[in-house]
Amino acid sequence: MNRSQGQQVRHEPTKVTGGCLCGSVRYETEVYLHNGYICHCTICQRSTGQPAEITVLIKAGTLKYLKDEPKYYVSSDDGKRGFCGHCGSRIVWQASRREDEWLTNITVGTLDRPAEARVTRHIYADTQLPWYRVCEELPKLTEKDAGRLIELLRDELRPEL
Ligand SMILES: [Zn+2]
Ligand SMILES: [Zn+2]
Repeated sequence: MNRSQGQQVRHEPTKVTGGCLCGSVRYETEVYLHNGYICHCTICQRSTGQPAEITVLIKAGTLKYLKDEPKYYVSSDDGKRGFCGHCGSRIVWQASRREDEWLTNITVGTLDRPAEARVTRHIYADTQLPWYRVCEELPKLTEKDAGRLIELLRDELRPEL
């Protein structure tokens, strides 16, 4: 049992709502609210304009847009990054392949109640900016651990594909 933040971590999906800054893109979905992670990869840094991107995974098949759909930038063969075409808020990383749908994730700052999320690990810690120090007590995975990360998440969440 993971009590790294002084309380029990839930691995069941939770219904949430959220959206962009201007309100054009609104979504509802189920997310694994307590399995968030901080990604320090250079693509996330560029995409957000911030030191890192902090996200939570959705439950595959539950993501619905209630108003406008995001616009997308295809950032790799694995997925595309969705943002509001009006205000620019970065909202989603959407997996390209059907079997990877469970890795689709939502930026934590677009949740209506972001304070309820919990982060459990850092990923791509090799490119963490030296002056950006948050949640330093959490485990850090590096670029070479990318495969292990997927196994860890699969074990924790047991996604139905
Ligand atoms: Zn917007
Ligand atoms: Zn990243």
